[in-house]
Amino acid sequence: MTSEEKAVLESVDHYSDDILEFTCKLVREPSTLGNEASAVNVMEEELSGLGYSPFRIPIDPQKLEKHPGFAPVDWEYSKNNGRDNIVAVIKAVGKGGRSALFNGHLDVVSPEPNSYWDNDPFNPVLKNGWLYGRGAGDMKSGIAAMVYAARAVERAGFGLEADLTLEAVIEEECSGNGALACLNAGYDAEAVLIPEPFGPAVLTSQVGVLWFRVEVSGKPRHVLEAELGANAIEKCFPLIQALREMEEKLNNMPGPDEFRDLAHPLNLNIGVIRGGDWPSTVAAFAEFDCRMSFFPGMSFNEIKNIIIRTIDHSAATDPWLSQNQPSITFYGFRSEGHTISMGTPALSLLSACHKDISGRPADRYIATCTTDLRAFMSFGKGQATCFGPVAENIHAQNERVETESIMHTARVYALFLARWCGLCS
Ligand SMILES: [Zn+2]
Repeated sequence: MTSEEKAVLESVDHYSDDILEFTCKLVREPSTLGNEASAVNVMEEELSGLGYSPFRIPIDPQKLEKHPGFAPVDWEYSKNNGRDNIVAVIKAVGKGGRSALFNGHLDVVSPEPNSYWDNDPFNPVLKNGWLYGRGAGDMKSGIAAMVYAARAVERAGFGLEADLTLEAVIEEECSGNGALACLNAGYDAEAVLIPEPFGPAVLTSQVGVLWFRVEVSGKPRHVLEAELGANAIEKCFPLIQALREMEEKLNNMPGPDEFRDLAHPLNLNIGVIRGGDWPSTVAAFAEFDCRMSFFPGMSFNEIKNIIIRTIDHSAATDPWLSQNQPSITFYGFRSEGHTISMGTPALSLLSACHKDISGRPADRYIATCTTDLRAFMSFGKGQATCFGPVAENIHAQNERVETESIMHTARVYALFLARWCGLCS
């Protein structure tokens, strides 16, 4: 390690309190879908306070509609109420380096049921080296780490030899349209790093993910003549069973080599179910929302058609459903998977930075979920990966992130900047 690099790392350590404080500030904003504006404001203020010039990039469906990566959603973008993405570009001072982009998402999933938590999910609590709160891991600590990694380079007295873009987006957890809007506006780089909380491992593969909703109509009757009705809620059961069988078949198909060691890489989730409106009325309506994943190499249209066929075949065996076809809506995620070699220059350098700091080689991470890498890998320059803090219980109660791992992420990102973009004084 050079003396300049050592100076940059010391400078990261100087910011340990700021990194934790900024994480807590972000966690206090309950930035679930539709409610991201206050976290966006905090992000904007922090970047301005550090001397950057952040600007907003809204998700504009008119600009994105025709983009192959755009995910149609059933909420309105026109009244966006401050639900913007925030970007700041740190311009190169010298010449000859390679550009970088750090991306993080400000949105979080609902903490409900809040009663399962030991503390208020939006009131961060520090205990025994862990920070608790919704979004503490996924992924507000990562955002704090990436911002202060950039700041640390400047504090150590250096500029960069290529542009660095800092980007905080919304809708990572549901559509990916936030990162896509920024990419579509021209923000990309020769290396893209996302501090998702998968720990100090370099992500080389992620599955594709899609969302869909199945709606079933029934025939309402007073329960005293239930035999004349058709219960929409109960008609969902065989459809869900058929989807489970489809999931097993897809898992048993030969997938890409990198997923071979995983027992069950593709997961179907029935995440929401609604239906009926009265205990003594045969349910006239029911619907359920699902998430399904698929291997890299399969297209969104292929998996979509498999799902349609599965529902159609199952419905065909039921006298009521064969006459009253369930409807399927594909909304939100429609992201395809990808694989990238660990030997790609940005990934191998990131791995070397981790090793030089920790003394241990970085593991490879094969993700059975999707991340905003989808935009950069499918439609951008394509050297993109995740590397971030260690978290537990993300999307569950008592989510927490290990504070030392936030600092490690910041150090690795700062060293990466020094070596990838290049330092100049
Ligand atoms: Zn995340």
